[in-house]
Amino acid sequence: MPDPDYRSKCCNAEVRSDGVPDFMGSDEICTISFSCLKCGNACDVVSPAEKDRCVVCGKETEYAKDTHVDVRKNYIEGAGQLCPDCGADICC
Ligand SMILES: [Zn+2]
Ligand SMILES: [Zn+2]
Repeated sequence: MPDPDYRSKCCNAEVRSDGVPDFMGSDEICTISFSCLKCGNACDVVSPAEKDRCVVCGKETEYAKDTHVDVRKNYIEGAGQLCPDCGADICC
């Protein structure tokens, strides 16, 4: 299983996971720690925010679901988020 795309809280850099992998059949949450690849320190991680998808073609956009609509481009009120391609078709 590939590592999820975690980023370190300290540097927003890639992280390396250290720790014991989950064993089959175990419900216990195992202890995994992460090391920041930039500063080399153990760090907390932030999991990537889920991205909004284009309401036209379904492609993932650059905006996280919690990005305020005021700062987005290609956001159509009443419709939703568009990707740059579909936004270019509709706007202007
Ligand atoms: Zn760091
Ligand atoms: Zn689109």
